[in-house]
Amino acid sequence: MTPNPPQKRRSVAVLGATGAVGQSFIRLLAGHPWFYLVAVASSERSAGKPYAEAARWLGTEPMPDRIASMTVTACDPNTVDAELVFSALDSSVAGEVEAAFATAGRFVLSNAKNYRMDPDVPLVIAEVNPDHLEILGSQQKRRNWTGGIITNGNCVAIVGAMPLAPIHERFGITKVFASTMQAVSGAGYPGVPSLDILGNVIPFINDEEPKIETELQKFLGTTKKGLIESAHFRVSSHANRVAVEHGHTICMSIELAKKGSADEVTAAVAEWRGSSKARGLPSAPERPLQMATRPDRPQPRLDVDAGKGMTVTVGRIRPDTIFDVRLVASGHNIIRGAAGASVLNAELLVSSGMMQ
Ligand code: NAP
Repeated sequence: MTPNPPQKRRSVAVLGATGAVGQSFIRLLAGHPWFYLVAVASSERSAGKPYAEAARWLGTEPMPDRIASMTVTACDPNTVDAELVFSALDSSVAGEVEAAFATAGRFVLSNAKNYRMDPDVPLVIAEVNPDHLEILGSQQKRRNWTGGIITNGNCVAIVGAMPLAPIHERFGITKVFASTMQAVSGAGYPGVPSLDILGNVIPFINDEEPKIETELQKFLGTTKKGLIESAHFRVSSHANRVAVEHGHTICMSIELAKKGSADEVTAAVAEWRGSSKARGLPSAPERPLQMATRPDRPQPRLDVDAGKGMTVTVGRIRPDTIFDVRLVASGHNIIRGAAGASVLNAELLVSSGMMQ
């Protein structure tokens, strides 16, 4: 059943439409039942050119014809006439541009880091914390905006937060130790030089560990007086770039507040379907989490496209020798970790009735 479909398709735009995440938006919005793409915007390097010329298309399927001939515009609310705006902007410009759109009455679904940790900005995974959208009214009052900003998490933080959600719900989490193996597409285009990454592992991703160490708690936090209060567990993380095209993998050891065995934790993860508010939305996968069926999975090459890139695969749930349990999770960094998650958040916003 589809929760509250809109009366008419909503006009949407993509900011940063030429980049890796922007292109994923173009693919996911082609033929979307609720949204109609009316504008593509990027930097002044691209503005004024047809999209086909401005974007170095990374997909294996052809660029949609209607979009190929669209002229790329500047990221200016006076020229981009859309009710909803998906932002895949580089963080160096996202702060100012997204605020300008929110001031101009638009709802911005952002992938950039700039506003994620502000307590009056929802950081949302539709199946995990849809209730955090409630604080949009107080965001508008505090910032004097008639629109608003809703953020997506960091790509690997989303993949990690999804299996933690049912575990926190059932047992409470007190500590997490996380180590990641992140795909090259997570660095955008052209990203990491091939001579640095081929046959190699780079044990450093600029600014990544602090994001993992703060966003997991915000996803699993609660709303209080119009703000988000993060959950109180501690996280230590190591972020690594590996020679994988798409798909971030995260290994986590977890300490629980209420003791539970690996079998009980497996049952909690396996049974979880996420919030009923996300169920039936056009981009929601049938299962937000799936259990790996073999002991040597998840593997990004084999599992990245589960649920059209929206399902996170979890495996190897077993006892931990320092904390209580450990597991491995893997998911598509550009779909579940970026554009797909944003489109799902937009569907949640529209179906919630919070947008006029
Ligand atoms: P990308 O491939 O480098 O694309 C960046 C986009 O920003 C391009 O469209 C670029 O337009 C635009 N841009 C750059 N400078 C601009 C300016 N001064 N004014 C207007 N537009 C400008 O990066 P990406 O991987 O798609 O990432 C986009 C955002 O999503 C980033 O904030 C990133 O941190 C976040 N994110 C990425 C992933 C991932 O897995 N890749 C996952 C989650 C979140 P031009 O082509 O015109 O230069």
